[in-house]
Amino acid sequence: MSVNGFTTDLIHADRRAGTEHGAVHQPLHPSSEYAFKDARELAAVFQGKSGFSYARQGTPTTAALERKITHMEQGIGSVSFASGMAAISAVFLTLLRQGDHLICSKYIFGNTNSVLGTLQQFGVEVSLVDATDVEQVKAAKKTNTRMVFVETISNPGTWLADLAGIGQWCTEQGLLYVVDNTLSGPYLAPAKDFQASLVVNSLSKSIGGHGHALGGTVTDTGLFDWAHYPNIAEAYRTGNSQNWGLTQIKKKGLRDMGAALASDAAHRLAVGAETLSLRMRQVCDNAMALAQYLQQQPQVVRVYYPGLASHPQHQRASDYFKQRYGGLLAVELHPDIDVFDFLNRLKVLALSTHLGDNRSLVLPVAHTIYYEMGAQQRAVMGIADNLLRISVGIEETEDLIGDFAQALGAYRL
Ligand SMILES: *Cc1c(COP(=O)(O)O)cnc(C)c1O
Repeated sequence: MSVNGFTTDLIHADRRAGTEHGAVHQPLHPSSEYAFKDARELAAVFQGKSGFSYARQGTPTTAALERKITHMEQGIGSVSFASGMAAISAVFLTLLRQGDHLICSKYIFGNTNSVLGTLQQFGVEVSLVDATDVEQVKAAKKTNTRMVFVETISNPGTWLADLAGIGQWCTEQGLLYVVDNTLSGPYLAPAKDFQASLVVNSLSKSIGGHGHALGGTVTDTGLFDWAHYPNIAEAYRTGNSQNWGLTQIKKKGLRDMGAALASDAAHRLAVGAETLSLRMRQVCDNAMALAQYLQQQPQVVRVYYPGLASHPQHQRASDYFKQRYGGLLAVELHPDIDVFDFLNRLKVLALSTHLGDNRSLVLPVAHTIYYEMGAQQRAVMGIADNLLRISVGIEETEDLIGDFAQALGAYRL
């Protein structure tokens, strides 16, 4: 897009694209429908010319947000949705057909995993693999394999997929490679670095940062050859083949399924996105300091954080993410500590689900997000009853460490 840095182009993107009255922000357009002076122009927009007709297919405000995400991911275009899950569902439901095979990381966001069940009901075959090891991904390939789907960092285990190895293999095989970049995000690394074909981001997390709007995007990196993808409908096989994938996602996914992002949410997410690099630096520094502090405490059995040398993919994370390691941390407390009593002692962190918020959030994993799967499955996944997930925010580092210090101080082991 330009030779400037990540944030420079992000914060000047609106006015450079041309706004009324020199406004430095893209104005918020709440209009549901768009009218035309010329009937031919109205027809042209319906026939593929770029423009706006009805807000379920986008507004100038969602388009401005999409430009920002496209810039951050160094892609060729993006489509926005009402949430990250809407974006993920649209990718699966519009690009896979009955009889296709999907290879998916088994360390995957719970709701994404739930969508896989729906896909199977519609006749899509799914193989779950340990994506930290590219050999397992390769071994799962069948003649009907169409897509490989992985997340960058798993929640709550913080395992790192072999993103670059899988990307290289998918490129060689001509397979569609979809990366959910939500957990590390485009500031630490655009998923194009790993040869992703499509990138999904939940904007509800770090990109918005403020925790008062949901949104999601799918970005095309421009690396995949859609001309050879068999599941593109005849109607969308026109013009530059680079655009075929996103066109199908936009028409069959956004327009037909209807999970459109509202302009006011798009506006708030775009404002949040402007400070992503500043916030991520503070978040990563906080998470690293907290991880180092916690791993030295006798009341803590284990800390999961890619920034720690003890993490099995520490070297991989260092290579991928410019010596920063994200804001997700998992901490297993000593089994003698009552996890609920411990959490009730915290004064700074909020007891809450959600990730990538400016506020640090903590929850007991087994009793909340992994409750539904049952004790047996949790044991298989290594989710201990005393495991906490911490989504680190932008508070002053000493306040976060101090909060844990006072709560841990109640337990002399
Ligand atoms: C939260 C999350 C999603 C879903 O995003 P929503 O905006 O909440 O729908 C998808 N993938 C990952 C990795 C997430 O953390």
